[in-house]
Amino acid sequence: MNSTSFCRTVTIWLFWGLVLTVAPIPGVSFAQENGESLSSGSALALGPGRSGPRRNRHGEPHGEAGPTGSPGQIDDLFLPHPLPGTTASTTTLYLGEERVWVHVHESPTPGLTFVNIHDDENTALEAAKLYIRDHGGRLVELRHGRGRTVVIRRNGVLDRFDPNRMFTENGLRHSLYLFGTLSDENYAPIADFARKVAGFISIEKGKAIISVHNNTPGKLTIHDFKPGQWYGRDSREVFINPAEDPDNFFFTNSPVLFRALKTLRYNVVLMVPDPPDRGTLGNYVNNAGGIYVLVEAEHGHLSSQVRMLENLGRLLGGDSPAGN
Ligand SMILES: [Zn+2]
Repeated sequence: MNSTSFCRTVTIWLFWGLVLTVAPIPGVSFAQENGESLSSGSALALGPGRSGPRRNRHGEPHGEAGPTGSPGQIDDLFLPHPLPGTTASTTTLYLGEERVWVHVHESPTPGLTFVNIHDDENTALEAAKLYIRDHGGRLVELRHGRGRTVVIRRNGVLDRFDPNRMFTENGLRHSLYLFGTLSDENYAPIADFARKVAGFISIEKGKAIISVHNNTPGKLTIHDFKPGQWYGRDSREVFINPAEDPDNFFFTNSPVLFRALKTLRYNVVLMVPDPPDRGTLGNYVNNAGGIYVLVEAEHGHLSSQVRMLENLGRLLGGDSPAGN
């Protein structure tokens, strides 16, 4: 499960449909590193609803910093910045000429596995970093500077996708279609990218994967999981505490965890056993027989999100899964 509504996806798609560019950045070379290139190098087949590639003279989307410089270099902006007492290792993945860094933050103390899949959800990132510093575990972070969505760039043509819609074949195809990104040339490298990211997360039967997200007030709330609402078909049971911020909630496939979080009076959704295939990390973990927990909190509500993680960590008993 994920913090985007369909409306937001469409809005993002429409927005980037207007500002996406196709011109390469003058003077910047994107030579490939050995074996890391995922690009077929062929011309882009445009997705539905696009009359043709759109250009601006900068070759970059407006309003955000994309990676620059030569391969192998990482601007300070994109470094992992592990907290004291933890370490971070970095792997560069390529989507055509576009680079995405996978940072794996680790504590020497074993513990839970966290994932920060949306690059602009920084409160969630900080909360997970604080958690592993204080309680152990590891955190997989995607970093690229493109905001919520990830860019694939081939021959200077930029297309976008939601990294939390890439973990199943059907889900990925459907999501790429909605973004206008679906083509044979885009599908294979993005699916390969998804497999690599899943490899870093290391999803196994019985293991808990905690996906940390942030949202803005009113965009996605616990109320969206009620029957008849956008994510109603994903929910087996919803508990809403009227005294809680509706932006802050848990979503899990574990009935044991659902009941425990309800007892703690948190907003919490129990996933149906066979949820709609959206290509989310939740779909992937659920299909693999793992325990999935999404922790959603409002941007900037760091102490709330840290408390949510600490209470969750106590319930999960470190790396000992609560089970179904
Ligand atoms: Zn998110």
